[in-house]
Order: sequence, then structure tokens, then C-alpha cells
Amino acid sequence: MALSLTLPTIQNWSCHNCGGCCRQHAIEVTEEEWQRILSQGWTEQDGTPTGNALFEWHAGPPWAKRYRLAHQADGACVFLNEQGLCRIHAKFGEAAKPLPCRIYPYAFHPAGKKVTVSLRFSCPSVVANRGRTMSQNADEIKRLARAVVPDGYEKMPPPLISARERVDWPDALRFVEAIDASLATPGVPIALKLKRTLFWLNLVEQARFEKLSGARLTEFLDLVRQAADDELPNETGSSAEPSAVARVQFRLLVAQYARKDTAADLSAGWRGRWMLFRAATRFARGTGNVPSLQSIFREVPFGSLEQPFGFPAECEELWTRYFRVKVQGLHFCGAAYYGIPIVEGFQSLALIFPATHWIARWLAASRDRTALLPEDVAQGLAIADHHHGYSPIFGTLGFRSRVRTLAQLGEIPKLIDWYTRAEVEPHTNPKRL
Ligand code: SF4
Repeated sequence: MALSLTLPTIQNWSCHNCGGCCRQHAIEVTEEEWQRILSQGWTEQDGTPTGNALFEWHAGPPWAKRYRLAHQADGACVFLNEQGLCRIHAKFGEAAKPLPCRIYPYAFHPAGKKVTVSLRFSCPSVVANRGRTMSQNADEIKRLARAVVPDGYEKMPPPLISARERVDWPDALRFVEAIDASLATPGVPIALKLKRTLFWLNLVEQARFEKLSGARLTEFLDLVRQAADDELPNETGSSAEPSAVARVQFRLLVAQYARKDTAADLSAGWRGRWMLFRAATRFARGTGNVPSLQSIFREVPFGSLEQPFGFPAECEELWTRYFRVKVQGLHFCGAAYYGIPIVEGFQSLALIFPATHWIARWLAASRDRTALLPEDVAQGLAIADHHHGYSPIFGTLGFRSRVRTLAQLGEIPKLIDWYTRAEVEPHTNPKRL
């Protein structure tokens, strides 16, 4: 199959064998992969279980069970060795692993006659932009794309623009290109780029496009982008605090982004669900201590995370790259994101910015700091992006209505400002909590 791939050329990546993905993800296997792994003849001398104990039932009814690779007590895959390396890879080579292990951290999304490629920022090497360029990785990416992109992908419908508006693929991609262009504006802080994009997408949401196509649509998009630049000329930083309603909705959203769901967590059954429910109740109240959702977090007062922690200037590059990779790769709307329209998908994507900064504050406070370091933001983004587009709860009506409520109340720009504000110079004079 000849595929026309659009690569995220602003991003570098190579695997640095951290083993993180092998501790976080449930690896579902097909019947063919099951048989292949059995035929590899794993024994206890290899440090793995044997035979069918290599697999666990993780989804589907008893008559159509779906299996994943079994995991160790800490949630790591049974094939991950003590050095953090994959035993299948070491013994039989990369091609012998299940397909999801080979694909990660890439994601492939049909875009009309093309296929766009995005990356998952749950991988620390993606966050750090470490490794080979996408052009250097192109042959490998093409091989992987052939293995996952279904025949007839060209017939997949484009994402909706808003709840009521659908256009054809070339016009849908004009919206995507306009968002990318807004995010690429040189010399503009990422917070302002996000707020401008949210502003003009709000105008898009109120427009009708049945008579607007091709060059006229491009002209319209240029106009609304200009209106956003005029309305929000520079980064003054909003002094408006998010409302009480917005803070409750936002904390509940953050709780979803900050949780851990390794295979071990998902196997915790009713006990695990009860603990999550209790944690959600405390996040909704927002008083007392933040319940520690992962071992890397300490219980710190909710109020302490509302103090200004600043925004490390080094993170501008990371954030611009993150949003552009997600947008260019259509990793925020349509089939890649729970079938959600472009405008709502971007609102959801923009919320990952304050959500990550809230998580980064929690990481900093857990280490007795009150100013963010770039590594807090990098780690916070890896935690948050693990869920973005992958945890089913993000596509539920409840989660979507949370995003819509924040958007309709005009609270997303306030949250962006509130969770990146500084009263002291970042990295200096950190007050103890
Ligand atoms: S099979 Fe190998 S690459 Fe895949 S999750 Fe297990 S250890 Fe990691």
C-alpha cells in the first residue's frame, strides 16, 4: 500500500530504553501474536512465566475475551527485565514484539488522501526532543504505518468543525493549518498563542460554512485570526481568578490527568474504584490535602497549589512543539480523539496546559519547592499526555461537558493565566510551604 505520510518534522525521537512505556501500558495481543510469543518458548530460566501464564484476560465478555501481556507486581510487563530492557527484543529482535510495542510512541491518523503522524508525550524522549529527526526515522515510520493504517482509510470522514458544521477534508485541513499557524507565530508566548486561538475558534463556532470553501474559507480564517491578534495584542496576564465553579470543574479534570492507570492499578478492582471515587470527592471539595494519586506525589494542601509558581521560560519551546505536533497530527479531534469536533477538541487540548502546570506545581510542592523548574513541567506533561486521547473517560459525556462548561463560561483563558502566573522571579527566592 502506497501511503502519503505527513511527518511532524519539528520533533525528534529515538528510543532510549527507559522502559517507561513497558511499565505504563496494557499491551493487547492478537491471536497471531499470542501464538508467536508461545512459539518463542519462554521458560522460568528466562525470568518469565511460561505458556498461557504470559497472558491475562483484560477486556471483552467471556465468549470473546481480549488478552494482554501479563504484568509483574509493580505493573511492568512480564517481558521487562531488571535492566529495563525488553526480553523479546533482546532475544528475537524488534519485529518479534507485539505491534503496540513497536508503534509506541507514534500515532497514525488518516487525513483524507494523506496520513498524519503524531507522537505521544508520555515518552520522556519525546518530551525532551531527544534522538533522530523524523526524516531519519521515515523508513521505519512508513513500515509501521503500513502495519496499522487500514485499507480504505481515504474514505474515513473528516472531523466535524463544530457540533453542527461539517466540511470536506481539504477545508477541514484549512482549519487545522490555521490553528497550526497561530501556534507557530514567532515571538509570542505560548499562553497568548493559546488564548488567541481559543478566541478565534469561538468565532468559528458561531459561523456557518456551507457557502464558504477553498480560498474564501482561507480568507475568512485569516480575518478571524487577525481579529484575535487585535483583541489580544500582548501578554498582560489576566488578573481575573477562575470562578469557584470553574475551579471545581478544573480540579476534577486534573484528577483524571494526574491519576495512574498501569495494568496493576486497573487490576485493583472494586477497591481501586472506591479509592478513585474517594479521591474524586476530595478533588471536588478542594480543601485539606490533595490525595496522593501516584507515589511520586506527596499529600500537600490544595491551597498551596493555588500560589504563584511561575512559568520557566525554557518551557516555551516544549509547549509550542507539543501543541503543534498534536495539531498537525490531528491528535485532538475526529477519529483520533473520541470523534470530537475540531473546536471542542482544541478546547480540550488547550486545557492540558493549565492541567499540566497544576500537576507540575504538585510535583514541585512534593519536593518542597514553590517555584517550577523545567523538569517539573516536562514530567507533568508526560503524566498528563499519557491519558490524552487514550483514557476512555476523556470521551465520555461527563468529561466533555466539563470541557464545554469551562469553554462556555470563558474560563479556559483564566485558567491558562492563573496556573502560569508568577509573583516572584522563577527559580529565585522560593518560599517554603
Ligand atoms: S513486550 Fe517488550 S516492549 Fe512490549 S511492553 Fe513488554 S517489555 Fe515492553
